[in-house]
Amino acid sequence: NTSRLINKTVLITGASAGIGAATAILFAKAGSNVVILARRAEALKAVEDAAKAAHKESGVQGGGKVASIQLDVSDKAQVASLLDKIPADLRSIDILVNNAGFVYGVERVGQISDSDIESMFATNVFGLIAMTQLLVKDMKARNAGHIINLGSVAGREPYVGGSIYCATKHAVRAFTGSLMRELVDTPIRVSEIQPGMVETEFSVVRFRGDKSAADKVYEGLTPLNAEDIAEEIVWAASRPPHVNLAEVFVLPTNQA
Ligand code: NDP
Repeated sequence: NTSRLINKTVLITGASAGIGAATAILFAKAGSNVVILARRAEALKAVEDAAKAAHKESGVQGGGKVASIQLDVSDKAQVASLLDKIPADLRSIDILVNNAGFVYGVERVGQISDSDIESMFATNVFGLIAMTQLLVKDMKARNAGHIINLGSVAGREPYVGGSIYCATKHAVRAFTGSLMRELVDTPIRVSEIQPGMVETEFSVVRFRGDKSAADKVYEGLTPLNAEDIAEEIVWAASRPPHVNLAEVFVLPTNQA
């Protein structure tokens, strides 16, 4: 039952593709209003249209407003001016999904470029923190809200060739855990969804556009898909107010 989500407003970063896009569509289907953010405006517009169509098709009364705003979460100035760009009727955010994130390369320590290190931290960690800082103030003032961060199996188990990505996702887990404890005296919930392998553009980005190298990652197992994780996010958001799914660790059945 997702009826608690009707007329809620959800802000989702990294919603032009993959998990973020699937999550936007599922929230719209459940009767939420959705504000979607990413760098690629055209891809974002396609998700906006798909989310509006999903809401219409669902027949759910209420919600279904969708706004897309081009935003790079790693750009501090863009984040700082974000609230002014959100249409006035969608400015009161009930649920923040900090989903934007990526991994570059499989290089070992000593071979990783400074720019790859900086850009992974800038998006996965500093971008997520900046978005949270921006919205937590408003949530505290209204004494309501839910922050859902995308962690990863890489935030629980380090792997060879993943030092920087793993470090970013361990940072997300630590930040999320601290935030949850800081807000324990408020009704604001803080959750982390930790996916295992999900087949999205993520691996194509990791191998810098090499699709055949990306496909090899999923050989020998049936990976999760973006909708599987979107369902967990929407499920967490739709629980009764006294229930917080603090950490949701989701693996494909054949991934250990
Ligand atoms: P995708 O590569 O399919 O999508 C990533 C999304 O993030 C895109 O919409 C991209 O849009 C956006 N994005 C990237 N950088 C920025 C930025 N600086 N500012 C704003 N948006 C940005 O990846 P997934 O959907 O698979 O990943 C989503 C989240 O899930 C990430 O945090 C990832 O770490 C996590 N995750 C993924 C797993 C997987 O196996 N796929 C496993 C575990 C966790 P644009 O390029 O338009 O900006």
